[in-house]
Amino acid sequence: MATREDILVELGLTPTWRRRESVTEAAAAETPGMHGPAPPDSLAQREPRPRAAPALVTVEDAMARATRIAALSWDDFASDVDACAACGLCKTRNRSVPGVGDVAAEWLFVGEAPGAEEDARGEPFVGQAGRLLDNMLAALGMARGRNVYIANVLKCRPPNNRTPEPAEAEACRPYLERQVEMIRPKLIVALGKSAASLLLGTDATIASLRGRVHRYRGAPLIVTYHPAYLLRNLPDKAKAWEDMLLARHTVAAPPDNSVADPPPVAR
Ligand code: URA
Repeated sequence: MATREDILVELGLTPTWRRRESVTEAAAAETPGMHGPAPPDSLAQREPRPRAAPALVTVEDAMARATRIAALSWDDFASDVDACAACGLCKTRNRSVPGVGDVAAEWLFVGEAPGAEEDARGEPFVGQAGRLLDNMLAALGMARGRNVYIANVLKCRPPNNRTPEPAEAEACRPYLERQVEMIRPKLIVALGKSAASLLLGTDATIASLRGRVHRYRGAPLIVTYHPAYLLRNLPDKAKAWEDMLLARHTVAAPPDNSVADPPPVAR
C-alpha cells in the first residue's frame, strides 16, 4: 500500500512538503503496488458483449431514449450502456465503461472518456492517469469504491483517444445525468474541460473555472485539471491539490448559495 510520502511524491508536492529524512523514501515512490485496485467482481464478470449494430437515433427516438434512461435502476444501468448504439463509438469500442464505485458515494468524479486500458477492462481510470487519480484519492484518505464513484462524460472510447465530439457527449449525457440522479453526491469533481463543459454548459478554461464552487443540478461542483493533463504538466499538480482541498472543505461544509466566493488560488 502506498505511504503518505509515496502519494505526495506522486502528486509532485514533495519539493514543498518533503521532510529532510524522506529523500530515500521518495526515490522509492515508483514501486509496484501503486497501481489501482483490481476491478470489483461484478466488473470482472461483465463479459464484453457482441457489438451492437449501429443505429441512427432520430430526434423523436432521442426523447424516448432519454426518458427511458432517466428511469433506469442500477440493476439495468450497465447493461443498458452496453447495448447503447446512439453514436458511432459503439462500432469501435471493445467494452463500454459505465462507471465504478459506491453508488451511495458522497464524491462523484467525472472524467472525459475511456482510454485504451479502460476500453479493454470496462472500468474508468485504470491507466496511468487513473493511478494518479487513485493517489490523489489516497492523499485525501479516500479510495475508489469507498464513498467515491467515478464516471466519464462518454461511456465508450473515442478512437485514438480523440476529444469527444459534442454530439457524442450529448448522446451520452442522459447516462451521466441518471448517475448523478441515482447517486445524489454531496460533491461532483469535474476532471478536465470535457466534464466541466458538459456539466456547466460553458466553454471557459479550467484555469478560469477552478478555485470556486459551481452547481450542477443542486450539487456543489468543483472543476480541476484532468489527471492526464497533470501527468504532462507537473507544476499544475499543486493547483489540483488545492482544488482537492477545496473539494474536501465543500463536502464538509456545503455552501448554501450557488457560487461561493472564490478563495485565493494561484493561477
Ligand atoms: N481519462 C478519462 O477521462 N477517463 C478515463 O476513464 C481514463 C482516462
